[in-house]
Amino acid sequence: MSCDLSLLPVSPANDPWDPIYSLRKYGKHTLTSVEMTVTNLCNMRCEHCAVGDALVSIEGPKLPLELMLRRLDEIDTLETISITGGEPTFDMRNIKEYLLPLLQYARKRGIKSQLNSNLTLDYARYEMIAEYLDVMHISFNYTDFEDFAEVGFVKSERKPPKSRAEMMFNHMVENTKRLTSGGLFVSAESMINYRTHKKIDQIHELIVDMGCQRHEVHPMYPSSFAAHLPILSLQETREAIERLLDARNPEIWMLFGTLPFYHCNRDEEDQKLLKRLKREPNITVRNDPDGRNRLNVNLFTGDAYVTDFSDLSTLGNIHQDSLTAVFEKWRNHPLNGMISCHCDQVSCCGPNLLVMDTYYKDVDFTRREAIL
Ligand code: SF4
Repeated sequence: MSCDLSLLPVSPANDPWDPIYSLRKYGKHTLTSVEMTVTNLCNMRCEHCAVGDALVSIEGPKLPLELMLRRLDEIDTLETISITGGEPTFDMRNIKEYLLPLLQYARKRGIKSQLNSNLTLDYARYEMIAEYLDVMHISFNYTDFEDFAEVGFVKSERKPPKSRAEMMFNHMVENTKRLTSGGLFVSAESMINYRTHKKIDQIHELIVDMGCQRHEVHPMYPSSFAAHLPILSLQETREAIERLLDARNPEIWMLFGTLPFYHCNRDEEDQKLLKRLKREPNITVRNDPDGRNRLNVNLFTGDAYVTDFSDLSTLGNIHQDSLTAVFEKWRNHPLNGMISCHCDQVSCCGPNLLVMDTYYKDVDFTRREAIL
């Protein structure tokens, strides 16, 4: 008997954000996911923030919600939406006029939703949206509030006093505990970078303590927002992942994304690590949705992008273009051609552009295949 996955909760066996499923279902990469940037306001200024320099303290009006909903309606294949910022819950009006209607739309249509938040504000605003939300996604790269104070305000002109940073950190931890104990699925994402790679196991422990149902782990790459940060070697990244696997709680779903290790690599260490990731329970390695099954829409300008942080210019605008038309344009883009390989036996549909640019500049993946 076939089963409608859209009705099931997200789980290691049901991750509709992973483009490998839509590729298998439709036989080609298909638009099934839309991410919307709904604010550039935030109470933090994190080092790892994809919005980075675009954060502001006052922002202009957004496009009418009806226009966005109409563009979503046109996508017959839509399975997921994600809402991102800035901090999407920063402004109460934004919650009432955009977040809630978008999440209710998704719930009514039977598609899954994700909200990216720092969870540092008052609990009431998260409680308002929790019942309509499938995945609350937070960034968590800390072992204590001092880490948080350092990482979370790197780009602030005026750093908050330590006492305020401590209060915000405690708020985040308490909010996460309350939401997870109330049944909301909270996925905490950590970046493997020069700050975290040696203590990623301790970070994991705190994430487990907060009751998060998933720990999401991505190496950090020097994209536009993080161009100034030191890059880890592949060896350092491998070691960090091994450290985490040795220490992790196997009851918790661990999702690895944008990994720089591919089944077509001849390196024995890479092959060993990939085998371990496949063997261990509750681990998934997600293919990157950006440029595969997802577009990002900026709700201030209407511009549509392949990712919310790449240097690629916009491919269209929802004022005049349907998102499926924008996606078709990307499918024919030469850059897309460079990453469009697919080895189904290992559930891989190719590298991420940033990963290629960082570690595999001279490799033509379209001429490779997985080593089985
Ligand atoms: S899909 Fe591409 S990156 Fe993945 S294993 Fe195959 S050739 Fe390598």
